[in-house]
Amino acid sequence: MPHTVPARREKSNGHHNENGAGGPVPYRLVEEIVARSVAGSWRQAKLEWDLAHVFVTEPDSPGICTCGHYPIREHCVIRNRKSGNKAVVGNWCVKRFLGLPSGPLFQAFKRIMKDGGAALNQAAVEYAYGQGWINDRQREFYLDTIRPFYRLKGLSPKQRAWRVEINEKVLAHAAPGWGVRHA
Ligand SMILES: [Zn+2]
Repeated sequence: MPHTVPARREKSNGHHNENGAGGPVPYRLVEEIVARSVAGSWRQAKLEWDLAHVFVTEPDSPGICTCGHYPIREHCVIRNRKSGNKAVVGNWCVKRFLGLPSGPLFQAFKRIMKDGGAALNQAAVEYAYGQGWINDRQREFYLDTIRPFYRLKGLSPKQRAWRVEINEKVLAHAAPGWGVRHA
């Protein structure tokens, strides 16, 4: 689909400045995302995309962002709700240029990768539930035990063990390589 960006291309640094909100958008990101969108301009095209799936890869198996940046470990699979197309974009570009709420998810996943007894945040719990990684009871337990009351009081050994178990379940999906390595 034709769009208007090429006329304003700045060849010197591979970026252009049409975005406004997040600073200069990498040219390749604009090109690739607009090509997979129904709208013909970046400004409109970026609004068609949702977060479909996120995952963290191990340092020895990084990926590449749609903008061309390599390596990335924090992967977002984004999906265009009008065209059905998908793209893999790094967390940094997603937060900065697409404005999708991937940041808190990666913060939570990285926290439990470092410490299996640490807590996910509410966004990550709801995300894991929405993906079908955890069931109703696990979601309820988790949301209950991340309230300030438990943060002060601490979890019982049994509650802590359950949290660790749920964390492992979440990481098996959110960081598949990590799960294998630490199994
Ligand atoms: Zn990128």
